[in-house]
Amino acid sequence: MTSPSYRGRFAPSPTGPLHFGSLVTALASYLEAKTRQGQWLVRIEDLDPLRESPQAADLIRLSLDTHRLFPDGNVRWQSSRLEVYRHHAEQLVGQGRAYYCACSRKELAANGGRHPGRCREGGSRTHGRPIAIRFALQDEDAYWQDRILGEQHQLVRAEVDDPVIIRKEGFVAYQLAVVVDDIDQGITEVVRGSDLLETTAQQRQICLALGGTPPAWAHIPVVLNNQGQKLSKQNHAPALDDRQPGLNLWRALNILGQQPPTALATADPQTVLDWALENWSMTDIPQRSTCDTAAVSPEG
Ligand code: GLU
Repeated sequence: MTSPSYRGRFAPSPTGPLHFGSLVTALASYLEAKTRQGQWLVRIEDLDPLRESPQAADLIRLSLDTHRLFPDGNVRWQSSRLEVYRHHAEQLVGQGRAYYCACSRKELAANGGRHPGRCREGGSRTHGRPIAIRFALQDEDAYWQDRILGEQHQLVRAEVDDPVIIRKEGFVAYQLAVVVDDIDQGITEVVRGSDLLETTAQQRQICLALGGTPPAWAHIPVVLNNQGQKLSKQNHAPALDDRQPGLNLWRALNILGQQPPTALATADPQTVLDWALENWSMTDIPQRSTCDTAAVSPEG
């Protein structure tokens, strides 16, 4: 019997152009998929029109192309699948695994920021107020093996509140769409930033409730700026300089612990990628976050 073939993905939310931290994630997921003779998919998680823009999605795709990270197959856009996600949310409500909730921020704040729980029993007093749908987490002592970070443990519900899967404004939430698409696209392994580690146990529960098989997980320590903050749009991470894709890839490989030869820093992106495909080792990825500083410049 042959084992199911590897399918990985890179799933950016288009809140801004690609920055160095997201290139590190894209590159790691690409190299792991390719060196396991698998497929690498790109999915644009454009669920929040208030925070995202089509221009950002175009810039992300352009940057990926410039770095020669070409997906297998067409890019998927989550905004074109809203009805599918809504259907799954209603299905979870029908199965008693999700519930309507009209609680306001004020009510939640009065309860220490956590959900009071009465909506779970169908007691949400809506009075025509906007309604969200929340997934009803089950109490669980969750253990799983992360391929980079090792054994993980999370006490679900004691530490995590029931996640919103359809927002009050009617938008579909990331927590639902990411799981629906990972199942639908047959993703076997998720390689992503460790800032999403804490959502893993709840996404596993949503996946099982939808009848899916949870993927394996590999969380890459996030890249920090020199103030120790995660590189992100909120922290004003600069957009990648697409005029130097070879150097960007070389620096990303350094962050990923792959120690590319210094001479490659001035090579074209395809040469850097070819070296990486020959030499890729996920076990060399450091478990701790790394600073994006001069330590990864060819002079330093
Ligand atoms: N769209 C998410 C983000 O950009 C990533 C989703 C995932 O990899 O699970 O942070």
